[in-house]
Amino acid sequence: MTRLALLGSTGSIGRQALEVIEMHRDRFEVGALAAGHLDQAFRAQLERWPEAAAWTPDGIADPTLAGRWAEGGLEQLAADAKVDIVLVATTGIAALPAVLAALAAGRRVALANKETLVTGGHLVDRALGALGGDRLDWLRPIDSEHSAIWQCLLGERLDEVERLILTASGGPFRGRPVTELGDVTPAEALAHPTWQMGPKITIDSATLVNKAFEAIEARWLYRLPYSRIEAVIHPRSMVHSLVEFTDGSYKAQVGLPDMRMPIQFALTYPRRLSSPARGLPPAEWGSLEFGPLDPDAVPAYRVVREAADAGGNRGTVLNAADEVAVEAFLGGRLTFTGIGPLIEDAVERWGDAGEPELAEIHAIDREVRQALRRDLGLDVA
Ligand code: MG
Repeated sequence: MTRLALLGSTGSIGRQALEVIEMHRDRFEVGALAAGHLDQAFRAQLERWPEAAAWTPDGIADPTLAGRWAEGGLEQLAADAKVDIVLVATTGIAALPAVLAALAAGRRVALANKETLVTGGHLVDRALGALGGDRLDWLRPIDSEHSAIWQCLLGERLDEVERLILTASGGPFRGRPVTELGDVTPAEALAHPTWQMGPKITIDSATLVNKAFEAIEARWLYRLPYSRIEAVIHPRSMVHSLVEFTDGSYKAQVGLPDMRMPIQFALTYPRRLSSPARGLPPAEWGSLEFGPLDPDAVPAYRVVREAADAGGNRGTVLNAADEVAVEAFLGGRLTFTGIGPLIEDAVERWGDAGEPELAEIHAIDREVRQALRRDLGLDVA
């Protein structure tokens, strides 16, 4: 039996992970559940999995849960010696200390959270170095692109990889020049052509900031320089990413867009099992088109890639700036095309070459958020 801790169990990834687990009850048990709120959905999960320890940030006032509450929060659940794999699907930077705690305790992590590697990739890299062995066994990507690259790399040597190629749907504004996007509404930006996701990542997909974040994650997962990590536009979202090898050969991972597939692979690696996701015979694929992603045509993508390349604390700065920018856009306080320049200004203002430790990451994150929220007229906590 593989015992799982599920951090972020009521979000889209968490719920789909539970579907996978339900299908393989003979292999998996749920040892811990954590969510953003002690709401109806979370209570239903706790009832379904009565053995699981539990935690939410809004605390406990419920005596029926007293015996199973993890006072130490995400970090306690992540480091629990009885857990085999910690699936991290919480949103935001709160996931980073939990991932570090899990790896420090020798727990495997299945990672769906972006902020962990965007802000603390260097810290995770250090933790993986201390563990030794197969890094991708310890830290298993769930994001469809990174799962695809991982699957393409199985049985290959990293020093024979020429390039990693992330596929991007291009979002709802694909092909439209940036000069036309000044007055697009949040509703238009939220209409993603392929994936049903939360609002933050959907806006990040429309700006392609999400793709730039994925380049940062790829850099830490596969330890290749940014010059070897590219993105290509692929509107069908059937090819989840590709790897080019030194001999000019390419490997791609193909399938219908269904997150249950990469979630399951992260839990069953190196095995493949039957899945609730559906296969699609090649005769029904239709044409799989690819086109160039021109960074100059998508300024927010270019800004984040350049900042990532400069390194240091910039991952933390751009992550905080992007989160505030997206909130401001959704609240009508910033235009869609204002998101890139806001991130660029923040990186200019707070960017520094030193790689921050965890406490510094939190301090920079707080400072950037507070200052930008004040500038934009958003509530400052
Ligand atoms: Mg993705």
